[in-house]
Amino acid sequence: PHVARLIAAGEVVSRSLDVVRELVENALDAGATRIEIDVEGGGLRLVQVRDNGRGIAAESVALAPQRHATSKLEPDARSMDRVRTLGFRGEALWAAAQAGELRLVTRPATQVGACEVRAHGDDVQVARVSAPAGTTVRVQNLFAALPARLRTQAAPAAEVREITALVGRYVLHWPQLFWKLSVDGEARLSHAPADHRGAVASVYGPLSANRVLTVQAGGVRGVVSRPELTRARRDRMHFSVNGRPVQAPPELEKAVIEGFAELLPAGAAPLCVLDLTLNPEDQNPNVHPAKQVVALADLSGVAARVREAVAQALAAHPL
Ligand code: ADP
Ligand code: MG
Repeated sequence: PHVARLIAAGEVVSRSLDVVRELVENALDAGATRIEIDVEGGGLRLVQVRDNGRGIAAESVALAPQRHATSKLEPDARSMDRVRTLGFRGEALWAAAQAGELRLVTRPATQVGACEVRAHGDDVQVARVSAPAGTTVRVQNLFAALPARLRTQAAPAAEVREITALVGRYVLHWPQLFWKLSVDGEARLSHAPADHRGAVASVYGPLSANRVLTVQAGGVRGVVSRPELTRARRDRMHFSVNGRPVQAPPELEKAVIEGFAELLPAGAAPLCVLDLTLNPEDQNPNVHPAKQVVALADLSGVAARVREAVAQALAAHPL
């Protein structure tokens, strides 16, 4: 049973990048307006996420690292269609506590004292402490007890690159929040509340912000690069669906390029950050453990909206 548990946990947390994503999503689900991420040793030694969100009440804090303990989903089968939060399986904290040492300190603003939960494997200990409102979750020594898993981890520098890119995507899609990423004690990325253009400045540098046009039509919001300043880099196309950064289906990337029509040189790919708002029942994030792949009920309809929104943005800004 212990081995089965570790395998199941490995589906959710197979590398430190997964820990960062899951903890950040929890902070977003908690309504945080400030999210600070600390990573040490490529995330294997430490991943810490501090937020100023709603916290966990003392009476339910011991449940948080239990498997399938979630406050986000009603236990009836149909509710999957109505998920509006990023998390819903109740497995992330549990998996982090299986794969490493979890420490969570949390306090709802209305509660006097804070609680600390330490969890590793099946062992869960709760203590009363004092702390500011919000939640800080730390995962230390990831895979220390799993040498086979440790051997297959990327080099710290490579993992940090991907973590930085991941946090950058959250900044791009949640630009209204404060964000800070520190790596081995040094600030790597910081962002104060702004619009999508400001987020492009934080992630790609201040000059990039002058290169983008605002897109807003038909449930599609964000920015695209001005055609004359567009370079051929597909790694700069970012989409989110209802707040969740997703790996875009190629149809959506194609729709953006088609929105430019003949304005774009052949083979060029614009920078874009596009947030799609869909009815929850029209998308299913439950097709992959990391929830980065969404199934869209009407992909061609969504693609048409994207193409149209991009075309409108370009039409509104004649060269
Ligand atoms: P899920 O996000 O799928 O519900 P998790 O294992 O990620 O499951 O978290 C378990 C529960 O712990 C959440 O449902 C939530 O109630 C609580 N929780 C976790 N992180 C936070 C946080 N940063 N702020 C407030 N509550 C949190
Ligand atoms: Mg979660």
